[in-house]
Amino acid sequence: MTGFAVTLRRAVNRLNVRRSEFFRLSKIILLVVAAFGLYLLIKGIGRKAASARKDDVPAAKPVESMVACAHCDVNLPESEALADNGRFFCGEAHKRLGGR
Ligand SMILES: [Zn+2]
Repeated sequence: MTGFAVTLRRAVNRLNVRRSEFFRLSKIILLVVAAFGLYLLIKGIGRKAASARKDDVPAAKPVESMVACAHCDVNLPESEALADNGRFFCGEAHKRLGGR
């Protein structure tokens, strides 16, 4: 075998090693990309399911302001409270008794 042939064979061997390395690497890259794609897919499905679930829930009622009874400090919606001179009471009895 001539020196040139040996050199050529070594070069080819090196190239083959490099090529197999490249294929191994590309397989890993493909695996990573596939895993990432799967992750995005699962995340997308999850988000879609979550938004669908959100659509099932009726729109929340506007928040009503709460007031405290001037006599017993119990909190109740403003619409259910009895107003008297800018103060609120939980019922007629406490309105009669007045604030503390
Ligand atoms: Zn009260």
